[in-house]
Amino acid sequence: MHSSNIHIKIFTLFILTAILISILSPNFLFAQSREIVAKNGDGIHKILRNNGLDPAKYTNAFIELNKTRIGKDNTLLIGVKYRLPDAESKITVQSVGEELAATTPTLSPTGTKTAPLAAGKTMRYDIFGSKYANVEIKSNELKGAVYYLKSGHGGPDPGAMGNYQGNVVCEDEYAYDVTLRLARNLMVRGATVYMITIDKNDGIRDVSFLKADKDEVCYPNLPIPLNHVKRLQQRVNTVNKLYGKHKKSFQRFISIHVDSRSKGENIDIFFYHDAKSKTGKKAATTLQKTFHAKYNEHQPGRGYHGTVTSRNLYVLKNSYPAGVYIELANMNHQRDIKRLIIPDNRQAVANWLADGLVIDFKNNK
Ligand SMILES: [Zn+2]
Repeated sequence: MHSSNIHIKIFTLFILTAILISILSPNFLFAQSREIVAKNGDGIHKILRNNGLDPAKYTNAFIELNKTRIGKDNTLLIGVKYRLPDAESKITVQSVGEELAATTPTLSPTGTKTAPLAAGKTMRYDIFGSKYANVEIKSNELKGAVYYLKSGHGGPDPGAMGNYQGNVVCEDEYAYDVTLRLARNLMVRGATVYMITIDKNDGIRDVSFLKADKDEVCYPNLPIPLNHVKRLQQRVNTVNKLYGKHKKSFQRFISIHVDSRSKGENIDIFFYHDAKSKTGKKAATTLQKTFHAKYNEHQPGRGYHGTVTSRNLYVLKNSYPAGVYIELANMNHQRDIKRLIIPDNRQAVANWLADGLVIDFKNNK
């Protein structure tokens, strides 16, 4: 009797520990993904084929998913565990997303494959707000490109907060406004765009002080958790599931923040990529060069010192599409806020980002 009680207690402790470990592990949401251990003679091609995955379709996803564990020239390391990309049939959120999109038009992706994206067409997207809802597709420059745009924070988390002329300014609102402007710019050029952080009633706001709210959701309509690890996992999972839908397309994940860690009065825009992602680095460098050229053109003599750096960030490391993480400014710098509260400046940043992404797309065509 006594000893069986202890046995039950130990067993309960074991279960609780197992649950705790799985919750604390940043990879727990991938627990369903299949994993394999590389043996002598294994290569990406062979492993994909042996597991019923077409190498032509899944090689890029495999590399992005395992980029921290892959050797030179994409060789596999013997004895190392690798995650297999989910086969298309396993992606279930896709159909749920489409259903929601069909019934709640304001939450639909801002562009989809089925939308008539031919140049000259005008489509209405309420997510941009009444003034900007009508989007005329002006060119096919980005036809075939798919973008996942994620503004940082949102929902219960306002991100960095600053104070300007007696107004509280929150990072998530300013990041969202620039991201929304960027989404529209990309769509005008024929791209397919997914807003990963969505606020169904903010729209693009041509005012200085953006009222903070907490009603943002994650695509297609998921409540945003307060816990920051869970929030990042939710976003990465959303992007990775959509990735499966566009496997053969050029895809980019763009994350926009306004809480740069730069010291002093440095008010430049910084670009980050994952250390293992060559494509991410190339895209980040293209964007940085574009900003350099734009500043020289529009504000000669100002000098631009924004950099491209690799950084260990969960969203970059775990997302299938190559990603760039952008820091626009710091909410605690008065000069930064002064620049960002001007709607035209937010539009200019979005315009320059779109121009840079067009170059990035053409470079990879
Ligand atoms: Zn942030």
